[in-house]
Amino acid sequence: MESDQSGATADYIPELADADPDRLAVAFCTEDGRLYSGGDRDTEFTIQSISKPFVYALALADRGFDEVLEKVNVEPSGDAFNDVSFEAETGRPRNPMINAGAITAHTLAGERGAALEQRSERIVEGLSAFAGRRLSADDAVYASEIGTAFRNRALANMLRANGIIDEDPLIAVSGYTRQCSLLVTVEDLALMAATLANRGVNPRTGEQVVSAVVVRQTLSVMATCGMYDGAGDWMTRVGIPAKSGVAGGLIGALPGQAGIATFSPRLDRHGNSVRGVNLFQRFTSDMGMHVMEMPPPGPSVIRSRRVFGHGSLSLEVVALQGGIRFAGAERVLRDLEESPPAHRRVAFSMGRVTTIGDVARRMLLEAVRRLTLDGHDVYLIDPDRVLPDPEPGTGGRVTVVRHREDI
Ligand code: GLN
Repeated sequence: MESDQSGATADYIPELADADPDRLAVAFCTEDGRLYSGGDRDTEFTIQSISKPFVYALALADRGFDEVLEKVNVEPSGDAFNDVSFEAETGRPRNPMINAGAITAHTLAGERGAALEQRSERIVEGLSAFAGRRLSADDAVYASEIGTAFRNRALANMLRANGIIDEDPLIAVSGYTRQCSLLVTVEDLALMAATLANRGVNPRTGEQVVSAVVVRQTLSVMATCGMYDGAGDWMTRVGIPAKSGVAGGLIGALPGQAGIATFSPRLDRHGNSVRGVNLFQRFTSDMGMHVMEMPPPGPSVIRSRRVFGHGSLSLEVVALQGGIRFAGAERVLRDLEESPPAHRRVAFSMGRVTTIGDVARRMLLEAVRRLTLDGHDVYLIDPDRVLPDPEPGTGGRVTVVRHREDI
């Protein structure tokens, strides 16, 4: 990995061109906040475009989906990060990961009509909550970029002309550039990514930084647009929602598992870190991290169906197990339909169930309702309360107990 010297530091921002190109660092942050890191893990560098998904998430949280979608679409552009491309009909940027969309998302963070300082503070405070520590800006990189931000100024002027932003374009670019100049380490980035992977809860501080629906939207946009014109290639080969920055950072958020970050300043022609991309390819092939790769199916959710006792005291127990989602609940309903319980008293045993998704919960309660309507007395043996406050709906009835012996 160290021997790969291909690519070059970003040269359109003078201060970044001078970065030490040989730096290399990597960090993993688990869902419960444990960090594993190596290499130049204490080196600070500017976040650059990796700020984009997080600021997009703040904009969604602060202004709601409708207002944000009206101004920035979510279609991959297939264009370079700084391309001058807008939708012909609406004048909207195609997505919030290219600069035009990111400048727009920047203006949508915080309260409507807020002055630049307040908005910048909202962004610093928001990104710091993702990172679990107060972040600060690199003034030299900011000054260096703002001095040569001709393209971004052009983009902001187009946005103003298209009626997408309603403030002074120079102010928007200034705020956006400051957002890009926040300093982070790979460990900060791994924790920020882990917060996305963890439904918006920072695994170290426990803070719910943004809601789970905002995270879903953000990760989806990262998956489809995060790597710009290399997004399709990235998604098929690496398969982790990701975002790169021109200072050499790269993050990936593996939903429900981990946040990953790498840092190496030499960039490929898309503006993505060469060694970072290679490392991520290795993570996927060595460690099976592609989000489209499923683990082999686990054991059936129905662990057993057994009858205890005799005569009028007999009880048929359907023991369930594992994490139950739509497909698992469907198996339970189908099984009950194909072989209806022969005894009046029926119990679902939940002792070995780890989690129940929302749709699975509704389906199981529907099974309870139908069994009641068919004349059964239905029990839920639920020692750990994996299915709290069961409400089976009209005509349904269920008695919750801790152990089978309690029935
Ligand atoms: N601040 C940089 C710019 O706007 C961010 C670009 C990037 O990291 N891809 O040009």
